[in-house]
Amino acid sequence: MNKWLKIVQHLLGACLPLPCHCVLCLRPSGRKIALCRECEACLPWLISPCNRCGLMMREGICVKCLRQKLPFERCQALFDYAWPVDEFIGQWKYAGELYFAKLLGTLMAERLSLRETVDCIVPLPLHPLRQRERGFNQTIELASQIADLKGLPLDRWSCTKIKSTPAQSSLGKAARMQYLQASVFAIDKSFQAKHVLVIEDVVTTGSTVGAFTMALKHAGVETVDIWAVCRTHPD
Ligand SMILES: [Zn+2]
Ligand SMILES: [Zn+2]
Repeated sequence: MNKWLKIVQHLLGACLPLPCHCVLCLRPSGRKIALCRECEACLPWLISPCNRCGLMMREGICVKCLRQKLPFERCQALFDYAWPVDEFIGQWKYAGELYFAKLLGTLMAERLSLRETVDCIVPLPLHPLRQRERGFNQTIELASQIADLKGLPLDRWSCTKIKSTPAQSSLGKAARMQYLQASVFAIDKSFQAKHVLVIEDVVTTGSTVGAFTMALKHAGVETVDIWAVCRTHPD
């Protein structure tokens, strides 16, 4: 869509309380986000995910988490990476349809919970070059929605990605691990938080959130919670 048309639409949307229509059934959603209650119930919700890594399983902690040591304390997500949520994320990240950030951020704030309060919310950093290509960092959009709704402080400046990594889908597991180390991220020396909530869109192998957690822990953070829109098996 024309860039200027988008800007005008955005400004109009901000000034006028236009009725919100559901992105799936196109009927009025009856609330502030573009998704009606009926369609919300049909999304690919994760059913009883692992308390530790967030992957779907039967109950408690998954077999893998009994054996593996994860750098973060807990990862939670709402959905499996399946239709129509994969479509929502594609439209949002690659076609710039930012209202999906509001929709998904609202559902995360409503449905996910923290066992104890956090010092701040941190969006998973995107490399500046990637951000320039895309025009925005999707995790900042998501994190600001969540921070607003939860009344928690958002820190979007203290953590940065300093090394660019190739698109993950183009790499095998071993290569991905090699690229993703804590040194990929830089944490500002003034960063004081001890308990951080990290926001990511999709967690697959967990290597990116794992590397970022390691960087936070090197900087003195003690507890890291992860919230993601989707948690999905790499295969
Ligand atoms: Zn609907
Ligand atoms: Zn697990």
